[in-house]
Amino acid sequence: MNDTLTAFAQAKIDELEAKSLRRTLKPTHRTDGVHVVRGGREYVSFSCNDYLGLSHHPRVKAAAIVAVEAYGVGSGASRLVTGDNPLLGQLEARLAALKGADAACVFGSGYLANSGIIPTFVGPQDVVIVDELAHACIWAGATLTGAPIVAFRHNDVADLEAKLAEHRGKARRALVATDGVFSMDGDMAPLDAISRACRAQDAWLLVDDAHGLGVLGGGAGTARLFPEAQIDLHMGTLSKAIGGYGAYVCASRPVVDLIKTRTRTVVYTTGLPPANAAAAIAALDVIECEPELVAAPVARARRLTGSLGLPEAQSAIVPVVLGEAERALEAAADLERQGLLAVAIRPPTVPAGTARLRLAFCALHSEDQVDQLAEAVRPWVGA
Ligand code: PMP
Repeated sequence: MNDTLTAFAQAKIDELEAKSLRRTLKPTHRTDGVHVVRGGREYVSFSCNDYLGLSHHPRVKAAAIVAVEAYGVGSGASRLVTGDNPLLGQLEARLAALKGADAACVFGSGYLANSGIIPTFVGPQDVVIVDELAHACIWAGATLTGAPIVAFRHNDVADLEAKLAEHRGKARRALVATDGVFSMDGDMAPLDAISRACRAQDAWLLVDDAHGLGVLGGGAGTARLFPEAQIDLHMGTLSKAIGGYGAYVCASRPVVDLIKTRTRTVVYTTGLPPANAAAAIAALDVIECEPELVAAPVARARRLTGSLGLPEAQSAIVPVVLGEAERALEAAADLERQGLLAVAIRPPTVPAGTARLRLAFCALHSEDQVDQLAEAVRPWVGA
């Protein structure tokens, strides 16, 4: 044991604890799309990203079980060695078709996808321009490029244009990256205007649509709502509305070929387990056959925003911004006493002074459950 390491860690933990920023894991299991059991008590959860409840859908589970029986639980090696189960290729074809792209590549997770894709196309002589509220793994990928990273104000296309005008000329190439739906705010990026700004300055556009797939655009994702937008890299995850685990990028065939040849988080990591691919294919089947299910999470979210007089929800995510971390923790504890789980989100996940309850809605929440949540949240927003 190294004493200085332990002392360093303890001091850091104490410092975070004093600021209400220490995090601890709480063993939790989910029994369906909306219920979780924690500390022996059952809660209605508004903190899961399983927007369609597909993690527990009989058809999705059955597909995973069949794949486990046929191929085992792991893929055994990286895809370029022996880990390229044909189910991965089938899933890629489905995702590419859904996004109207030539090809797709699946990844072990969204974090792996963004941290691998961005440095595949961008190097130190280039520039990465990122929405200030983009997900942490976009920032991780941008950092690995060695290129200057420039933030533009959240969803502010004029600021993006200004940043492009300032930095594009000095850089060999430029990549602009944004979330399609912002994970902690639930708002959508104006992809048509962002795409126009990118075209005007010959910049590539990456959109992380982790929270749009299966929920917006009839299930196809945020880009479907902006038919004019030209998106070079459609990235997303299999862990939210798809209900499982993993991620993807859809793009032109040469772009995907280069990713499969060079991206470090494809080449040097174990392939996605076949059962995850089988489950995702079954989930896409459900999404394509059940438009009412796809429409339900946003309807639930709007029921809450309507009831509390908050800005109308644009996605399945509604932020209730409460300010300091302590206040968000108190609100979460108050809801928990009422059997509702809405985890407090604190800095550095969100900017200082904007700690919040991040409410996520599932198609399987009943209207009564949403109304109960609204009454529990009401005193905290003074509505
Ligand atoms: N992008 C966004 C917008 C996310 O919200 C998340 C995770 N919550 C990720 C990427 C990372 O995906 P994963 O959990 O599959 O690593």
